[in-house]
Amino acid sequence: MMADAIVELRSVERHYQQGTKRLTILNGADFALRRGEIVALVAPSGAGKSTLLHTAGLLERPDAGDVVLAGRACGRLSDEDRTAIRRNDIGFVYQFHHLLPEFSAIENIMMPQLVRGLAVKEARDRAAQLLDYMKIGKRAEHRPSELSGGEQQRVAIARAVANAPLVLLADEPTGNLDPVTAGYVFEALEALVRQSGLAALIATHNHELAGRMDRRVTLADGKIVDF
Ligand code: ADP
Repeated sequence: MMADAIVELRSVERHYQQGTKRLTILNGADFALRRGEIVALVAPSGAGKSTLLHTAGLLERPDAGDVVLAGRACGRLSDEDRTAIRRNDIGFVYQFHHLLPEFSAIENIMMPQLVRGLAVKEARDRAAQLLDYMKIGKRAEHRPSELSGGEQQRVAIARAVANAPLVLLADEPTGNLDPVTAGYVFEALEALVRQSGLAALIATHNHELAGRMDRRVTLADGKIVDF
């Protein structure tokens, strides 16, 4: 085992049944994401990026092999245990922000903390701090519909790390933004990861952004390989 690995995939297999066809997406996939690093996941559409992120993030179970989070084997845990680990230790960001439209930016970031049982004041202070890190402190009281696409994604990233997870998993977080905005949002995400000692795995089609990350991996024959 890697000493400083936050997330490890060990010989993971993932297959889907599509009609009479058996689709093999992950086939003996090994991977380690270390503390403090930002890794780009670059592969064509349909290659299995979402499958990999969902498996690493305990949303899907591996058909074989195991996912190890901070040294703890999670493959065979109950759904209840997996949900609890997801809530506390894993942050997700998607291409579309999925913010709650009726709530302000700061309330959206407070929400997961309140669900976890934090007091309102603590949750609000943490949310305000995260908005500042993401350089949108002035937008705290705005609803998602009043924010630009880049601002919405910044709020979504802040929400994903609100409970100080071990790892941030992002599925094309800037895929819906123009290149310049994407660059700024990535810059803010990077600053957040660096200052918090988080680890991040980020699926992206943007080669310029991928080039700014610590290393790049892709999927080949069901395996995760550096490139
Ligand atoms: P990517 O994120 O790289 O676009 P996905 O992980 O979403 O790729 O999908 C990889 C392949 O697995 C695709 O061919 C997709 O159709 C298939 N797939 C994904 N989820 C399922 C599922 N629940 N059932 C059947 N096939 C699936």
